[in-house]
Amino acid sequence: MRKYVFDFIEGGADLTDLLGGKGANLAEMTRLGLPVPPGFTISTEACRAYLSTGAVPAGLFDQVNVHLRLVEDRFGKVFGDPRDPLLLSVRSGGRFSMPGMMDTILDIGLTDASVPGLAARCGDPRMAWDSYRRLIGMFGRTVCGVPAEAFERELAAHRSHAGVATDAELSEADLRHLVQAYKKVFHEQTGREFPQAPHEQLYQAVEAVFASWNTERAVLYRRQERIPQDLGTAVNVMAMVFGNLGPDSGTGVAFTRDPATGARGVYGDYLANAQGEDVVAGIRTPVPLEDLARIDPRSFHELVSIMERLEHHYRDLCDIEFTIERGKLWMLQTRVGKRTPAAAFTIAAQLVDEGVIDLDEALRRVTGAQLAQLMFPRFDRTAAPEPLAVGVPASPGAASGRVVFDASRAASRAEAGERVILARRETNPDDLPGMIAAQGILTSRGGKTSHAAVVARGMGRTCVCGAETLDVDTDAGRFTVAGTVVSEGDVVSIDGATGEVFLGEVPVHASPVARYFGGEAPAAGTDLLLDSVHRLMTHADRVRRLWVYANADTGADAARARRLGAEGVGLCRTEHMFLGERRALVERLILADGDEERAAALAALLPLQRADFVKLFEAMDGLPVTVRLLDPPLHEFLPPLAELTARVARAEALGQDPGRDGALLAAVRRMHEQNPMLGLRGVRLGLVVPGLFAMQVRAVAQAAADCAARGLSPRPEIMVPLVAAVPELAAVRAEAERILAETDGLRRVPIGTMIEVPRAALTAGEIAGAAEFFSFGTNDLTQLGWGFSRDDVEGSFFPHYLAMGIFGVSPFESIDASGVGRLVRIATDEGRAARPDLKIGVCGEHGGDPDSIHFFHTVGLDYVSCSPYRVPIARLEAGRAVVAAPVTASSDSR
Ligand code: PEP
Ligand code: MG
Repeated sequence: MRKYVFDFIEGGADLTDLLGGKGANLAEMTRLGLPVPPGFTISTEACRAYLSTGAVPAGLFDQVNVHLRLVEDRFGKVFGDPRDPLLLSVRSGGRFSMPGMMDTILDIGLTDASVPGLAARCGDPRMAWDSYRRLIGMFGRTVCGVPAEAFERELAAHRSHAGVATDAELSEADLRHLVQAYKKVFHEQTGREFPQAPHEQLYQAVEAVFASWNTERAVLYRRQERIPQDLGTAVNVMAMVFGNLGPDSGTGVAFTRDPATGARGVYGDYLANAQGEDVVAGIRTPVPLEDLARIDPRSFHELVSIMERLEHHYRDLCDIEFTIERGKLWMLQTRVGKRTPAAAFTIAAQLVDEGVIDLDEALRRVTGAQLAQLMFPRFDRTAAPEPLAVGVPASPGAASGRVVFDASRAASRAEAGERVILARRETNPDDLPGMIAAQGILTSRGGKTSHAAVVARGMGRTCVCGAETLDVDTDAGRFTVAGTVVSEGDVVSIDGATGEVFLGEVPVHASPVARYFGGEAPAAGTDLLLDSVHRLMTHADRVRRLWVYANADTGADAARARRLGAEGVGLCRTEHMFLGERRALVERLILADGDEERAAALAALLPLQRADFVKLFEAMDGLPVTVRLLDPPLHEFLPPLAELTARVARAEALGQDPGRDGALLAAVRRMHEQNPMLGLRGVRLGLVVPGLFAMQVRAVAQAAADCAARGLSPRPEIMVPLVAAVPELAAVRAEAERILAETDGLRRVPIGTMIEVPRAALTAGEIAGAAEFFSFGTNDLTQLGWGFSRDDVEGSFFPHYLAMGIFGVSPFESIDASGVGRLVRIATDEGRAARPDLKIGVCGEHGGDPDSIHFFHTVGLDYVSCSPYRVPIARLEAGRAVVAAPVTASSDSR
C-alpha cells in the first residue's frame, strides 16, 4: 500500500511537493532538533486521491493511527484520554501557502469526557471549557459548514447575559453554558450530535481539509496567483500546546528581518495568554515582539537564537509561529517569509553583502512584478491633509478610492469600474474577492500579521490595518473617527508605507524607484532600497542575453523609454501619425479621384511623417528604431458609418446637398468590412493603395538622411505588418529598396517583417529569404492562432473561461507556450535555419510579461520590445531568465 503519512522525523524541506510547505518545514525543524511538538503530515498525494475519487484512500486512517501512536509515545499522553488528553491541531498546508482554504482546527480530541482532565492538567477549568467551545465552533464551521453567525449569536447573547464586553471576561460557568448552547446549535444545524469519539473528530477534520482545496475562495486565490489547481494540500497533525494557560504563556509570530523594509533585527508580534488564531484573526492587537524580552527573557533569548539558526539554515528571511506554554517555547511553523517588494530587493542585496548568497541567487529572489510595485506612485506629502487616523503600515503603496464596507459590494463596484477601498473591522477568508478587487484594504483591528496584512502583502495590495481610532460599523456602512463620519462611497486615501488614512483623494507623485529609473541617481549609500535595486538591475543587465527595446510612437515616448534603459524601438506604430488634424489628408488620400490627387495627398503627408521620424531618431540616436508601415484598415481613419449615414440622411431630408459627406459615405460603404481585423489591413493595404507604403519609406529615408547630415547616427529598420506569404513581403521590399537606394547619405536600412499570421510562422523559412529580421506580433498571433477577436473576447467570455479553468491566465497577457508559443518556436528555428543572422524579437504585449520573457529567452529570441514603463521589468526578467534554476521541490518556498 502507498505510504501517505509521514512522521515529522521522516520528512525534510526537500519534500514540499509531497508534504506541502508547512509539513516539509516542520519536518526540517524537527530534524534540526528544534522544539517542535510531535506530529505527522498526510501527503498531498492522499489529497489528490481524495479529490479524484471523492473518498479518502483506502487504508489512510490505519496509517494515521499508527503514526498517532508514535506521537502519543513521544508526548507521553493518549489521544483524548479523559484523565489527561493529548489534543491535536489539524492544519492544511499545500505546496504554496494559500489563504482561502480551511486553515486550522485546534483542540481536536476534546470531548465531554476529557474536558475535566484538561482542566486538571492546566489547573484552569475556565480555559478547558473555553477550548471546548472553540473546538465545537471551529469544527462546526469548518468541518460541517455551520454558519459562523449561528455561533456568534450565542456568544453575543452570553456576553450580554453575563454583562461583559469581551469573551475573555466570561466566567467558567458562562463558558459551560456556552458549550451547551454551541452543542445545541451544532445539532440543529447538522442534525447530529457533536462527535464524542476523538478519532471520529480527527478523521472528519482531515477529510474537511482535503475538501477545502476546492472552496470557491481557494480556487479564486489560485487563479489570481497562477497556482496550479491540481496540486492538492497536505494535512499537518500535531500535538497541541497551549498559549492560553496564563500570563507565562502566549503565542506569537516572528520574522528574522523586517518583512516591510528588509531591515535587520527581530520583528514580530506577541500576544500573552492567547492561542495562535487570536493573533492571525486580528481580534486583539498584539504587542511588539521585543516586549517578550521583558515578559519572558529566557524564552525570548531561546527564540532569538532559533531565529538566527533558521535564517542561517534557510539562507533567507524566515517567518515563525511559536507558542510558549508555561515558560516552555514551542515552534509551530516556519517558512521562508513573505515580504514586501522593497524588502525583497533589500534582503537579497544584504544577503549578498553578508556572503550568504551570490548575485545570481539574489536575482532569482526578486521579480519583475515586485519591481513594478516599487515603481507605483506615492502620495505627495506636501499636498496631503492632516490624516484622519494612523494605523499599522501593513503593505505599502498609495491607494485612493471610494470606501466600501462589504467584500462582495467592493467586488461589484470595482467591476463597474470604480476604484474602491475595502474597510472592515478585520478581514477573513470570505473577504478575498473584495480584497482582490480593491485598490487598498483598511481595517481597525489587528497587526502586521493579521489576515488582512498577510493577504494584502501577498497580493501586493496597499493595506493599513489596526487603525484603532476608527469605529467601523459594517452594517450601517460607515466608520466614525474623532467626530467625522465616513460613509460608503466617500473617497479616502491610505498610505501603506506610513499607515496614514486621509479623507479625500491625495495627489500622488513618482516613487523613488521610478525617479531612479528616470535618471535621478541617488548618491551611493544614501538609500538602502535604491542601492539594492541598482545592484540587482546592474547584475541583470550584465547577465541577460535578450536586448530590451520599447514600443514607442513619439520622440517623447522614445526618450522616456531610453531613460528607462531601452536599447532601441522595437515597434513604432505609425498609425497614430495619421490621426488628429492629419485625418483630413488621409481622407483625401482615400477619396482621391485619380493618381494626381492621390499624389498630392501623399506629398502633404510626407513632411509630417518625416518630422515624426526625425524626433524618434533623435531620441534613439545610435540605437535601432523599427518603423512599422501602416497596419490598421483604412476605414478606421474615416468617420463611422452610422454617423455619416445620419448626417447625409439629415441633409437630404432638408433638401440640402450632403456635399463631401456624400462622397465620404460612398467610400465608407465601399470599404465596410464585417471583420476588419481579418480584412484589408497591414501589408494587404500597402499593396492595394498605391504610394502609401512608398511615402512612409521615403519619409524614413529622408528623416534618417537629415539626422545623419547633422552628425547623428540614425538606425532605422523598416517592418512590414501582417505578412502571410513571402510574395507579399517581396513586393514591398522591392519597392522599398528602390526608394532607399534613391536617398543619398543613408546607411543600409534593414527590412524585416512581423510574424503575426500563423501562415507566416509556418512558412518562416521562405519568409526569411526576404526578411532581415522577424518581430513576433504575438497579439495578432494569439488572436489568429486561437481565432479570437481580441477587441471582443476579453470582456465577453474570457471571465467564463478563466472561471472554468480553460485558461489559467488570459493568453493575451501571458504567452500560450504550447500553442502560440509553438508557432514562435517553429518560426524561430526555421527562420534561423534559412538565414543564420536573422535578428528575431517580439513586440506584442507579451514582450513585457515576465513569464513570457522567460519563454522567449528559452526559445532564443534576440530581443523583447514592450511599453516604456515595463522596460525595467523586462530588463530584470531577462536577467532572471538566464539565472533561473529549474524549478525543483525545494527551490520555491513561497
Ligand atoms: C501584434 O499583433 O502583436 C502587434 C504588436 O501589432 P498590433 O498590436 O499593433 O496589431
Ligand atoms: Mg499586429
